[in-house]
Amino acid sequence: MGKSKGMIQPPKSVYAGFGLCPYCGKNYYIKRLSNAKEGIKKCLACGSNRAMLTCRESESVFLDDLKAILIKQIGILKSNPIEFKNALRNTYVGNKEALQEKVNILNGKIDNLRAKYKAIENKIGDSFNALKNEIENELNDLFVAKQKTENELLTSNDAEIVIKQIFDSLDKINEDNIEESFRILFKRMIVKNRLDLTFIIGNENVTNLNLLDLKKILVGSHQIKVRAQHYTVKFGIFINK
Ligand SMILES: [Zn+2]
Repeated sequence: MGKSKGMIQPPKSVYAGFGLCPYCGKNYYIKRLSNAKEGIKKCLACGSNRAMLTCRESESVFLDDLKAILIKQIGILKSNPIEFKNALRNTYVGNKEALQEKVNILNGKIDNLRAKYKAIENKIGDSFNALKNEIENELNDLFVAKQKTENELLTSNDAEIVIKQIFDSLDKINEDNIEESFRILFKRMIVKNRLDLTFIIGNENVTNLNLLDLKKILVGSHQIKVRAQHYTVKFGIFINK
């Protein structure tokens, strides 16, 4: 038999497009390392270094360590639901009360101007016409501002749905089979170095973020061993709107 056109593709790795290098912007790939003592170990490494070492700032992360860290991160999120929910609300909802207050103030200004207009509506003469024009223009600006604020309020209602979805996805993660489920919640991992990992939650598009200066929240730490030396990995999440 000749080569079939419909050759079976190898299954896409659950780590595809997960690790991201903040130095060169390339995705991390799975690299197999053979070691006489430990056999084959898998790690995630910067895609720029696949053929030869070109991204010198990046560091690789062992998958075994990563799995343990992900389980710890999930534990931190699950045991701090209020802090997690507040962080999501801060990112997505903004300040709903402040927006509503802004709409109220705009409504008050609009009512005042309408009353002012009504009072001179039937007066004639150039000066009254000029005043009417002025009031109409001001009203227009106020309507535009009100529309904009009301749209922001509507978006913050959608935000409640997004927050619920993110919270639900945390529940769906199965710590006993972490690789099957962690991507529901964790969209990307920024590897500042092997001891500093940030998991992105929410929007996986990180092009507008300063990847080397993300403020991690709901943080934790994990001991790893590299060539007989012990190190502490600091990790945490970043909610990306
Ligand atoms: Zn890189």
